[in-house]
Amino acid sequence: MSPAAQTLERKWDLDVEKIRADFPILQKRVHGKPLVYLDNAASTQKPRQVIEALSRFYFESYSNIHRGIHELSQEATAAHDDAREKVRRFLGASDRHEIVFVRGATEAINLVVWSWGWQNVGAGDEVLITALEHHANIVPWQMLCARKGASLCVAPIDDRGVLLLDKMEKMINGRTRIIAATHVSNVLGTVNPVHEMIEMGHRHGVPVLIDGAQAVPHTAVDVAALGCDFYVFSGHKIYGPSGIGALYGRRELLDEMPPWQCGGDMIDRVTYDKTTFNVVPYKFEAGTPDIAGAIGLGAAIDYMGKIGIENIAAYEQDLLDYATARLGEIPGLRIVGTAPHKASVVSFVVDGTHPTDIATILDQEGVAIRTGHHCAMPLMERLGLPGTARASFSFYNTREEIDVLAGAVKKAIEMLR
Ligand code: PMP
Repeated sequence: MSPAAQTLERKWDLDVEKIRADFPILQKRVHGKPLVYLDNAASTQKPRQVIEALSRFYFESYSNIHRGIHELSQEATAAHDDAREKVRRFLGASDRHEIVFVRGATEAINLVVWSWGWQNVGAGDEVLITALEHHANIVPWQMLCARKGASLCVAPIDDRGVLLLDKMEKMINGRTRIIAATHVSNVLGTVNPVHEMIEMGHRHGVPVLIDGAQAVPHTAVDVAALGCDFYVFSGHKIYGPSGIGALYGRRELLDEMPPWQCGGDMIDRVTYDKTTFNVVPYKFEAGTPDIAGAIGLGAAIDYMGKIGIENIAAYEQDLLDYATARLGEIPGLRIVGTAPHKASVVSFVVDGTHPTDIATILDQEGVAIRTGHHCAMPLMERLGLPGTARASFSFYNTREEIDVLAGAVKKAIEMLR
């Protein structure tokens, strides 16, 4: 029996073959080999249900929203509102006004930085992030700090990639204005103790933003239970279209924040002397939004909901454990990121080889992984690495595909040595 077939005690109820049939792209052959798509942390593939929701909307109900009294505009507005309601439920927010549609996690963080941050961060203040952040949660804050004369402070990690929460707490002081931290590291897979981090921030009177881009694909999130002030994610990493995502913000904070982009839809009344603004979330949604994108995101949330996030989490944890074991037995290969609590990402380096060379050979075998700094250059510097190779898993992947990955990595190592 192949190692892949030796199933451990199953803690999930999920039919992978049936799921795979929903993703037409997984039937593709690459360089004559069956595609093994293990670049899910960069973006996930889309199920038929999402693609069909998009085309159905364009075929049957497309119109601009909010501004029309005609039937199509009302249908499109209702579908868009419905998508917002799905995101609200998905995140466990209590009020749909707390859900702002954006392009993705990057835009959501920029919104908070240039609206909340611009209003609340001043000269001498501090913004506290962690050493595990994606550039999307570094660079906007860095630019804000530069413009305001504030400082960007970085909480350290240990060599396994575990955040040092005690040290982080010691960095909080009277000048700390916000904590902005990732829920799950896109490079190492580390799951941060966001609950404790949020409690810690609030104990010191500091609001907390959580970057959930890599968390929502793998784990249930409940912003009300977490008590965070802001939570951001991207639709394309949870089987939805690219170009759509959401910002959750606590209503009191959103209400007090100034608009950041201005134009149609975000206004209440405009004269040449003065403009008053719409209520949240519309105050933050200037111009015609990605209407179909929101509807596609709603369909993706429905799709994940049908499988069940507990099933997804349990199945992907098995893939992660299996991949860690299979890759770990390859001589000369080192897994980077060994936190005890990880989501389904495995970064690795191989002595004497460059990650890009490995990925190039893997591509010839039909195996799609990612290499490089993964938009986390300061983390790479902390780890003393120019980059890693990264395989990241979804519920449509299988243990057999991980065997193909391990075989292809061995082959690459032989070819490169
Ligand atoms: N944060 C994390 C942790 C990410 O992994 C990513 C995407 N790689 C982002 C933010 C940015 O997401 P997007 O490019 O969809 O805006």
